[in-house]
Amino acid sequence: MKGNRVNHPKKYPVGRKRWLEPERKAYMKEYYQKNKDKLRKKHVERMRERYHIDPEFRMKRLENRKRWGERNKEHITEYRRMNVLYTNGGRIRVKKRKFQGFCELCSKTIEKKPFWHHWDDEHPEKGLWLCGKCHWLAESVEYDPNQELLNKYKHLKEGM
Ligand SMILES: [Zn+2]
Repeated sequence: MKGNRVNHPKKYPVGRKRWLEPERKAYMKEYYQKNKDKLRKKHVERMRERYHIDPEFRMKRLENRKRWGERNKEHITEYRRMNVLYTNGGRIRVKKRKFQGFCELCSKTIEKKPFWHHWDDEHPEKGLWLCGKCHWLAESVEYDPNQELLNKYKHLKEGM
């Protein structure tokens, strides 16, 4: 398009911004709307390519990402709380139910950190929002380390 403008000064005189004309603008808007997904994908691809070959661009992107992270700390914490689960096997993505602000077992208001308790690794989205105490209780019901601890406690006590 740029070439046309330069090569045909009569048709598109200097200073006449064709893409600002209402008709042209409307057409471009429509074109964008129609091809949104395709255009967006192309844009992402181009940016990704540039990220790999242009070190300056990469630095800028990384800096921006870092700054975004610093500005959106709370947002990130909240996102992780709702969508990520830390298990023995590592990090998995999971869509948790909305946290209502209280423990779903003892109904106590949770001000600090709620625990997402799940019992089925195949379905980690099945779970309960629990306070620290109830989470401990739930875990001990699932895995019953209590008996073991109880025995050890008795053993230690008797050994004194
Ligand atoms: Zn509780």
